[in-house]
Amino acid sequence: MRTPRLVSFLWPFSGHRRVVARWALLLCALAVTAGAVEPSAIASVPPAAAVIDRAAIAMRSDPEAGRRAAEEAIALLRSQPDADLEVRARLLLCDYLSERDTGAARAQLDSITALLPHIRRKGLAAGSFDCRGQMEESDGDHVRARDYYDQAIALAEREHDSEMLAAGLFSRGYLMGLQGHYASGLTDLRRAQTLFESVNLPMHSLTTLNGIAILYNRMGDYEQSRHIYERALKAQRAAGLRREQAVTLYNLGRVHENLKDWNAAEQHFNESVRVARELNYARAEAYSLQGLADVANARGEPLTALAKLGSAAELQRTMPDARLRAQIQLVRGESLRLLGRYGEAIVDLQAALKFFGDTESLSELRNTHEVLAKSLSDSGDWRSAYTQLDEAKRIAELLFRNQIDERFSSLKVEFDTHAKEQENAVLMRENEASQKALAFERQARRLNAIVILLIVLLAIVLGVLAVYQSRIGRRMRRLAMTDELTGLPNRRSVLTRFEPLLQTGSIRACAMLIIDIDHFKSINDKYGHAEGDAALKLVAEVLKTLREPAFSGRLGGEEFVAVMPGADIEMACAIAETLRQQVMSLDSLPWLNERPMTVSIGVAVARADKDSASAMLHRADVALYEAKRAGRNCVITEYLVAAQSKARASDGTEDAESRPPLTAGSVEFA
Ligand code: GH3
Ligand code: MG
Ligand code: MG
Repeated sequence: MRTPRLVSFLWPFSGHRRVVARWALLLCALAVTAGAVEPSAIASVPPAAAVIDRAAIAMRSDPEAGRRAAEEAIALLRSQPDADLEVRARLLLCDYLSERDTGAARAQLDSITALLPHIRRKGLAAGSFDCRGQMEESDGDHVRARDYYDQAIALAEREHDSEMLAAGLFSRGYLMGLQGHYASGLTDLRRAQTLFESVNLPMHSLTTLNGIAILYNRMGDYEQSRHIYERALKAQRAAGLRREQAVTLYNLGRVHENLKDWNAAEQHFNESVRVARELNYARAEAYSLQGLADVANARGEPLTALAKLGSAAELQRTMPDARLRAQIQLVRGESLRLLGRYGEAIVDLQAALKFFGDTESLSELRNTHEVLAKSLSDSGDWRSAYTQLDEAKRIAELLFRNQIDERFSSLKVEFDTHAKEQENAVLMRENEASQKALAFERQARRLNAIVILLIVLLAIVLGVLAVYQSRIGRRMRRLAMTDELTGLPNRRSVLTRFEPLLQTGSIRACAMLIIDIDHFKSINDKYGHAEGDAALKLVAEVLKTLREPAFSGRLGGEEFVAVMPGADIEMACAIAETLRQQVMSLDSLPWLNERPMTVSIGVAVARADKDSASAMLHRADVALYEAKRAGRNCVITEYLVAAQSKARASDGTEDAESRPPLTAGSVEFA
């Protein structure tokens, strides 16, 4: 006997199918672009979005891990709410739960409904209709399921949301295939496939192709169907999509059954059971166990079949899948018939008949009528058997007519789809162009960022250089204005500071001293130049004791200068005298062990009318010369010099060398 159940379990899309597939692809795209995108751009992706993408991928490979990731995303969103992201996460959960726990799935739908007024991407709302449809479908209410799918499609179309539209079309196409409306189903599936391709979701497109394969299988094109599944399986293995593999393996088992290759069918069902158990994916396991039971019946091993069905039924009880229950009843009916337990067989078959009738699942309905007819005839109820057989024939004819019609229609579908595909190819090219433009823009943004970074770096380097340069400049200026040996300002520095003081006239009085070490040459001659330098430094230290506003410097050789703004002649003389005594009290050993080191000082004061630094230097120098002439170690003012030359001019005889020293504080050494 051939049991019909082949369609029931299209996994890649049941429940999580669209959402999972959609986000899985999105994630792949993200991962691929991540390599090309600057880290800042990646960093700007909200953490919940990344977790949702991970969840979507995981749903296809390990549903439990997918559920945990989706819940993690929702937890993250509590601190950083984002309605779009939350709806995405909850749609994943809704898909996951629709296969397992209807109550929990409905709770997710309630949360999604509450979020819908706040979403930016309005097309996401189609996802909730889709999930509702899944649940109704699982529940066996195909009319309501179809209604929700229609709503999902209409909404996605209105919002121009290609991805959501493709998902809705997939669900509806699959359902119509179940009901024997092959052409309409195929139209939807083809359209879904093209749309998935146009939004660059190749794995979704592949899953849609599986849906088409299921439809081909129903229409009797087993070879074509097998070919598609095998291709899909290869791709799923390569991508590590374990959950998808479990479903495709089951579907392949079904095709092999139709091809009456029981060994191949058994092998695929067994592999599906193994993968499903590894993933703790009860639904896939139950479907495949039921497939194995069907194979056992075909081999005339009804007891083996019943054992498998027992396990399948146990699993089925934990999930909301009315179709699976009916399929188990159908296969069990056949097992019981083979065992001669007609009464029990008829009870199971009647229950299956009701479900398949209600859901208009024509091929399953025909198969159930056939098995029921056999059971009734085996039990001796010829009349009822005849009625059942008659009904089976009627449905078979209907199906056959559908197949013929649909095959003609499918030619038209082929033609229409081809035209649409061409249209879509244009769209895809446009999409590709805009992708390239986007990539170009990203590249430009990246270059911009690099340029900005370089400018900032350059500014920093220039800033550092400027600071360095200004320090060097300051240092050079300092060096240019400082006497290297003594550390005192040099002649240029003193004059540069002194000249403006005279010009502004802001200072009422100003005095200048020139200080010259006496008999300095003898130090050099006796003790060497280095010792001479040391002596110069000692005298410089004395000059450094002058306090502001006075300042001093080295004029050159063993001559120093001191400027005293605000000082009149008396004050200047007093300070000069102090300096002279300070020098004399220096510890001048070992140079001058026989006498103290002494200086002679010439004093000049600024003239009220007009004066200049060079004129004052000259007058102070003349006074210094007079101090030397007067025997050294003394202070002589320009006034004294003037008075002296006046006196000399008046008598014209006196020899200056014979005159006493012309300063009160001068102390001649012996
Ligand atoms: P006077 O009492 O008349 O000033 O006699 P003097 O020996 O001090 O003066 P003179 O001008 O004859 O000699 C100055 C000497 O100072 C000559 C020069 O070699 C020495 N001299 C000039 N600059 C430096 C210097 O930087 N270091 C040393 N050690 N000696 C210097
Ligand atoms: Mg000198
Ligand atoms: Mg000297």
